Amino acid sequence: MINRKNTLDKLGNRVEKSQMVNQLFKGQPTKIEVIEMGDTVFCDACNEDYTNNDLATGGFIFGSKAYCPRCAEKRLPSIKSYGEEHYIKAYCPKGMSFKDFILKIRDGNNQIKIITSKKE
Ligand SMILES: [Zn+2]
Repeated sequence: MINRKNTLDKLGNRVEKSQMVNQLFKGQPTKIEVIEMGDTVFCDACNEDYTNNDLATGGFIFGSKAYCPRCAEKRLPSIKSYGEEHYIKAYCPKGMSFKDFILKIRDGNNQIKIITSKKE
């Protein structure tokens, strides 16, 4: 499972994302724009739109990116050759569509956050 709310800092302590943003942009005015994606599902590798595709099954989450069935199959050999399988956080269960898999993982948190900061 993906843990979206907490991330580890350099010392291995759990840090809330909002805290991380504060640390990154310490003292600088920061603006966070949130774009609600609803049921929109795109492959993060090839950008193909899977929103209306209930048939395609397969794919996985690599790091924080959603790899569609085609990209997952295409990239798995190189992921394995670099020993990076541990970055694969979840596989699409058999019989589930890629779209439902991604929406289930995002669990209603299907957002894009744009964080901008200005230096004084
Ligand atoms: Zn793809």
